[in-house]
Amino acid sequence: GAGAHGGTPAGVGSALAPNYHPLPVTVATAEGAWVTDTAGRRYLDLLSAYSALNFGHRHPALVAAAHAQLDRLTLTSRAFDHELLEPFAQALAGLVGPLLAGRSHLVLPMNTGAEAVETAIKASRKWGYEVRGVPADRATIVVAEGNFHGRTTTVVSFSTDPDARRGFGPYTPGFVTVPYGDADAVARAVDATTVAVLLEPVQGEQGVVVPPDDYLPAVRRVCDEAGVLLVADEIQSGLGRTGSTLACERWDVRPDLVTLGKALGGGIVPVSAVVGRADVLEVLTPGTHGSTFGGNPLACAVGLAVVDLLTPGTLQARARTVGEHLAGRLDVLLDRGLLHGVRTVGLWAGLDVAPGLTGGPASGRELCERLLARGVLAKDTHGATVRLAPPLTVEVPDLDHALDELTTALTTP
Ligand code: PLP
Repeated sequence: GAGAHGGTPAGVGSALAPNYHPLPVTVATAEGAWVTDTAGRRYLDLLSAYSALNFGHRHPALVAAAHAQLDRLTLTSRAFDHELLEPFAQALAGLVGPLLAGRSHLVLPMNTGAEAVETAIKASRKWGYEVRGVPADRATIVVAEGNFHGRTTTVVSFSTDPDARRGFGPYTPGFVTVPYGDADAVARAVDATTVAVLLEPVQGEQGVVVPPDDYLPAVRRVCDEAGVLLVADEIQSGLGRTGSTLACERWDVRPDLVTLGKALGGGIVPVSAVVGRADVLEVLTPGTHGSTFGGNPLACAVGLAVVDLLTPGTLQARARTVGEHLAGRLDVLLDRGLLHGVRTVGLWAGLDVAPGLTGGPASGRELCERLLARGVLAKDTHGATVRLAPPLTVEVPDLDHALDELTTALTTP
C-alpha cells in the first residue's frame, strides 16, 4: 500500500527531476532511530537525514511543540512580529553566543542551510566594506578544498566538486580556495581584500574529514592578526553531533559567525540561522536582507524546543560516550582489514570500503545496498565512503545490532 496517491517509484515514468539517486526504499513511518517502509520492514536509521534528525524521528517534545503551534499561528512573515521570534533568538543566542568571539551576539533566522551560508557571506562582505574599508566590490572570502556549503549558484561557485559545479556558471567571483587542514595556506591567501575565512570545522559531505588539532586554532590566529572574520559552517557538525554544541568547541576556537541548520528544525521544518557578533550582523539593516519564511512561528516553536533539548548538555555527552563505543567497534573492523579507513568524531563516522577485499563491497553504494537488505539505512559519498550519523538518541543495543550487520555486510554479498 503506497497510499492514496499510489507511488510511482522514481525512474522510468517518474515525474521527479533526476537530481537524486536514492536507495530503493520507500519510508512510510518512523519513530526514534527506526523507520518502517511501505511493506512493513523496519530499518535502523544511521543517516539521520544528514544530521537533521539528531534527536531522532518525531521526538515527542518537538512534535508537541509543532502541534501546539499549528493550532495557534503558523506564519506572519517578518512584516509583523509574533510571540516566539524574540524568545527563539534569545534562546539560540543564549546557547551559542557564549561559544563565539565577541561579547554581544545576534541571530538572523533563515530556512535552509544554503540560505544561512549566503547570509553569512552577505554579512561578511557588507561588514568588510562598511567597517574594514575594503574597496567596493573587491571583497574576497577564503574557503577550503573539498568544502560543502550548499547548492545555490554562489555557493557552488566555490565548490571543488566537479559534479556540484560544472555547468552552472557563470560563477560568483570573490572566493579564494586553499587546501583543507593547512593553516599556512590560509595565512598566504589572506590579503587586504579578505573579509572572512569560511570553513567547516569537520567536512561532513567530504566523508567526515577531521582536520589536524592545530588547524582551527591556527586559522583563528590568522584571522585575528589580519582582522578578518572566521565563519564556521556548523550546519552538519553543530548541535550535538560531534559531542559538543559546536564542533569548534573541541579545539577551543570561537568563530565570529556560525551557520546552523538541519537539526535546528528538529527534522520537522527547515530552520537555519546565522548566529554571530552583533557588530557584524548589525550591518544587515532593514531592506538589505530577508526571507518570507525565515523565523516563522512554527519554525521558532520547533527551534525553541530544539534549544531546550540541547541546553542541559546530556545529548552532547551522549554523542561523546556512544561515539567512543562506535569508534571502538569501527577500529576493530579497520584492524581486521574489513575497512580501508575510518574517521570518527563524536557520534559521526566516515568509513572507506577496502578495495580488493574478498566478498567485500566494490563501492560505498554497494555497501549501502547490502546494509539496506540487512535493515540498516546509510548513505555513500564520493565513491568509496559511507557516513554513519545515527540519531544522538540511539539505543546502544540497536547501534550494536547495526554494527553487527555492517560487519556481515562487509564480507557477505
Ligand atoms: N553546509 C553544510 C556544512 C552542509 O552539510 C549542508 C548540507 O549538507 C549545507 C550547508 C546545505 O544545507 P541545505 O541542504 O539545508 O541547504
